Amino acid sequence: MALYAAAASVLAGVENRQGSIKGLVYSSSFQNVKQLYALVCETQRYSAVLDAVIASAGLLRSEKKLRPHLAKVLVYELLLGKGFRGGGGRWKPLLGRHQARLKAELARLKVHRGVSRNEDLLDVGTKSESVSQVPRFVRVNTLKTCSDDVVDYFKRQGFSYQGRASSLDDLRALKGKHFLLDPLLPELLVFPAQTDLHEHPLYRAGHFILQDKASCLPAMLLAPPPGSHVIDACAAPGNKTSHLAALMKNQGKIFAFDLDAKRLAFMATLLARAGVSCCELAEKDFLAVSPSDPRYRQVHYILLDPSCSGSGMLTRQLEEPGAGTPSKERLCALAGFQQRALCHALSFPSLQRLVYSTCSLCQEENEEVVRDALQQNPGAFRLVPVLPSWPHRGLGTFPGAEHCLRASPETTLTGGFFIAVIERVEVPSSVSQAEALAPDLTPSPAPKRKKRRHLGRPGLCSCC
Ligand code: SAM
Repeated sequence: MALYAAAASVLAGVENRQGSIKGLVYSSSFQNVKQLYALVCETQRYSAVLDAVIASAGLLRSEKKLRPHLAKVLVYELLLGKGFRGGGGRWKPLLGRHQARLKAELARLKVHRGVSRNEDLLDVGTKSESVSQVPRFVRVNTLKTCSDDVVDYFKRQGFSYQGRASSLDDLRALKGKHFLLDPLLPELLVFPAQTDLHEHPLYRAGHFILQDKASCLPAMLLAPPPGSHVIDACAAPGNKTSHLAALMKNQGKIFAFDLDAKRLAFMATLLARAGVSCCELAEKDFLAVSPSDPRYRQVHYILLDPSCSGSGMLTRQLEEPGAGTPSKERLCALAGFQQRALCHALSFPSLQRLVYSTCSLCQEENEEVVRDALQQNPGAFRLVPVLPSWPHRGLGTFPGAEHCLRASPETTLTGGFFIAVIERVEVPSSVSQAEALAPDLTPSPAPKRKKRRHLGRPGLCSCC
C-alpha cells in the first residue's frame, strides 16, 4: 500500500477507535514503519488546522472521490510537510489544482489567529503541556551494564550528572544536558523531557531501555528473586519482561505469553538485544493456559499487564487529545477481559504475589477490576499497601483501594498508570509449604506468607 493511503487508513482506524496510532501502524502492511508513523503523527497533530483549511477551501466539495482522511494527509504534505514524496503519483495533479486556494486559506488562518509560523497554529492546552513535560526515563539494563558505567558514558558525552534526585521538583527542574538518578528507582536515570536517545549507541546495544517510570513499577513491585518462576501473562512488546529478567539476574524462568504474533516477534528481538536468557515466549491466549499444568507448579509470581484502553499513554494524550474517554462499549469489553484474566491468574495454585497494571485512567479497568476479582476469591487474597510515599493512590471506590497506585503527568511526572499488588493470604492446601517456597535455582526466599484472620468484608482487602 502506498504511503498516503496507508496513513489515511491509520487515521481512519484511530478515529474509529480500532487502536492506537502505533498499534495500527505496526499492523499495517506498510514497510517503512518509521516513515508512516511520523507522517500520521504529524498529520494528527495538525488535524484541527487541516480540517479548517480543507473546509474553507471547499476541497471535499469539489473532489467528491477524495476521502476525508486521505485529503488530510495530502494537504498536510502539500502545506506543512516535506512536499510529495516519490512524486505524489496521481494525487499531485489533483492537489495541484487546489494548491493556490489551500495556501491562501492557510495564510488567512494565520492572519486571523495573529500568528506567523505554522507551529503557532497548534492549540497547545495545559494538558498537553504537562504531558510534554514528562521527563525522559532511562532504565539501565543490569543484565548488560550498571548505572555507574552508563552515567560515565553520558558524562563523557558532555552531559552533567547531578546525582540522586531528592524530590519530583528536582526532576521538574531538569534542563539542557543535565541528568539525575531517580529518587525511587535505583536503576533509573532521568533526562529533560525532550532528550531523544533512540539513536544512542547504548540504547541500540540494549544497555538501557527507554521506559517510562510508571511502567517500571510493576516489575519492581512484583520483585521476584533470582531463581523464581514467573508468568508474564500479556507480555509483548516485553519491556516489563526484560525488567523482570534483570531483577532475577536471568536466573529462574519467565513464561511469557501473548496473543499477537507480530508483537511477539518484535519482543523476541528486544529481549535478545537486552540479553534476556531466562524467558520462554509463547504465542498463546493466557486464558487458555492451564493453571494445573505441571510446568507452572512453581509459579509464585504473575505479572498481568493486559490490553487496556491506553487512555493514560503519553503518546495517545498528545496524538489524540480527547481520547481519554473510551466509549462505554469498549470499556465494558476491556474490563470484561481484564477481569477474566485477573481471576484466571489468581487461580494458579502456587501463586503468592501478583501485580496487575494498566496504562488506563479509567476506574472500570482499574479499581473495579481489582475489587471484583477480590470479591470472587473471598478471603484468599489481599491488596498489599505499597510505596506509602507515592502521592497518587487508587480511587477510594472500595475499602483498601488506596493501597493501589495511580500515576499521571500532573501528579507523578509520568504517563498515566494504575498498579495493584495482590498477595495470597493463606497457603493453598494443594501445595506443600516447602514446595511453595522453594525457588528453582537459588536459595533466595519468596515473599513471606502470613496467615491472616479475615476482618471486615470477606473477599475485599483483609488488611483494612
Ligand atoms: N507488558 C507489556 C510490556 O510491558 O511491554 C505490554 C502489554 S500490552 C499492555 C497488552 C498485551 O496483551 C498486548 O501485547 C496484547 O497482544 C496482549 N493480549 C491481549 N489479550 C491477550 C490474551 N488473551 N492472552 C495473552 N496476551 C493477550
